[in-house]
Amino acid sequence: MRIHTEKFGIKTTNPLEGHDIGKTLEEILAKSSIVDGVCHIFLPHTTAAIYMNDCEENLKEDFEIILQKLVPYHSSYVHNMIDNNAEAHLKSIFIGNYTAIPVTGAKFDLKEGQTVYLAEFDGPRQRSVIVKIMGV
Ligand code: ZN
Repeated sequence: MRIHTEKFGIKTTNPLEGHDIGKTLEEILAKSSIVDGVCHIFLPHTTAAIYMNDCEENLKEDFEIILQKLVPYHSSYVHNMIDNNAEAHLKSIFIGNYTAIPVTGAKFDLKEGQTVYLAEFDGPRQRSVIVKIMGV
């Protein structure tokens, strides 16, 4: 088994935004030369998240609307006494900071249009993504 690890950065510019990182992941997979295995994607941050979905029109906007309902802005969150970003931490907890994609035939086993997003909840910040592809 071989292991290919890469880390790349993303500079976010808004308090709340999403980045499609699918193309970057495909480039890393191509560089790895791994044909059969698993690609692990980890975000070493606690106020942002990683998720997978379709790259369809208006879905990002609907996602933001539902996230605001799930974790509404509320200045009385206890953590806000420390650094005023409890809302971002809570959204990160609900969405998560890790995902994995199976690799078969040197391609991700994703349906057409399915991609991976980095979701920023406390920007602007410099974010990094760790990618570890394990396989043969
Ligand atoms: Zn905090």
